[in-house]
Amino acid sequence: MLDDEPAGGPTFLDRLFDHGLLVRTGVDGLYGRSGAFESVVDALDRMITRLGAAEGAEVLRFPPAMSRPAFERSGYLKGFPNLAGTVHSFCGDARGHAEILACLEAGTDWTGQQEATDVVLTPAACYPVYPVAAARGTLPAEGRLFDLQSYCFRREPSLEPTRMQLFRMREYVRMGSPEQVLAFRESWLERGTAMMRDLGLPVAIDAANDPFFGRAGRMLANNQRAQGLKFELNVPVNSLDKPTACLSFNYHQDHFGSTWELRQADGAVAHTACVGFGLERITLALLRHHGLDLAAWPEAVRAELWG
Ligand code: ATP
Ligand code: ZN
Ligand code: MG
Repeated sequence: MLDDEPAGGPTFLDRLFDHGLLVRTGVDGLYGRSGAFESVVDALDRMITRLGAAEGAEVLRFPPAMSRPAFERSGYLKGFPNLAGTVHSFCGDARGHAEILACLEAGTDWTGQQEATDVVLTPAACYPVYPVAAARGTLPAEGRLFDLQSYCFRREPSLEPTRMQLFRMREYVRMGSPEQVLAFRESWLERGTAMMRDLGLPVAIDAANDPFFGRAGRMLANNQRAQGLKFELNVPVNSLDKPTACLSFNYHQDHFGSTWELRQADGAVAHTACVGFGLERITLALLRHHGLDLAAWPEAVRAELWG
C-alpha cells in the first residue's frame, strides 16, 4: 500500500523530474516525457484497444483542436469557461509586427494584437466526434461506437503531476438508445475495474461530478451526482485521502443528441455516453505504486503491459 509522502521530502513530482520521467518546461502542468514514460503510455493504449476489440469500434483521430463554432455549440463554455483554451494569432500588418518586436524589446505585453482564430483546443477527446456523427444522419438501429484519442487542454495548472494542462485521453463513445448507452457504461465500469486490478492498482468506484463553473454550476454538479451520471475509478496517487480519477464514465443523456440533432433510428433524440482513460494519470498511478524503475515492476504487471 502507498505511503503518504514524508513532509518536507521531495514530492512525487520532484522525483519524476529527478528520474527524468517528466521534463520541466517552466509551466506547471506542461511536461516533456521520457522514453520510459511513453513506453507505458503506449502499452496502456494497446491494452485499452485489446479490451474494446470485440465491439469493433470505429477508430477516429482528430488533432488536439476543434472548430470554434463546434466548440461554441457544444455548450462547453456554459460549464467550464475557466478551463477553455482558444488559439489566437497575429492578424496585423508590418506596423503591427514592429509593435510586437518593440514590446518584446521593452519587456511589455506583446499580445495585444493577437486575435481569436477559428481554432479552439480540444477539452475532451469526444468533443469533436458528435458533429461528425450527426452529419452522417440518423443512427443505425445498433447505434454507433467510436474509439478516440486526443491531447486535451484544460487550463488547470497544478503542482500535482496528475493535473496537467495538456494530457492524452483515450475514449470510447457510445451513441444510441438509453438502454444501449447504459449497457455500454455498465460493461466498461466492469472492464475498467478489471484492467486496473490487473495492473496491480487499488481502485474505488465513486460517484462524481464535473467542476461546473460558478454558483449555477453548483446546482448542475449536484444534479449530475444525484442522477448518477458520472462515475470515476479513483486510485491514490498524490495522497491517500484524495485519490485521483484515472478513468471516467459519463452518461450525457440526450445533451449531445439534442445539441447536435442526432437521432436514433426510430427518430427519438440519441443518448450518448463515454468512457475516458487518462493515459498520463494511469501511467503516474503505476509509477507511484510500483516504483520509478519500470524494470523492477511486478512481473505480472509487466506481462499485462508488454506481453
Ligand atoms: P478531475 O475530477 O480529477 O478533474 P475530471 O472529472 O475532470 O477529473 P474527465 O473530465 O472525466 O476528468 O476526464 C476524463 C479523464 O481524463 C479522467 O478520468 C482523467 O484520467 C483524465 N484527466 C482529466 N483531467 C486531467 C488533467 N488535468 N491531467 C491529466 N489527466 C486528466
Ligand atoms: Zn467524453
Ligand atoms: Mg477536472
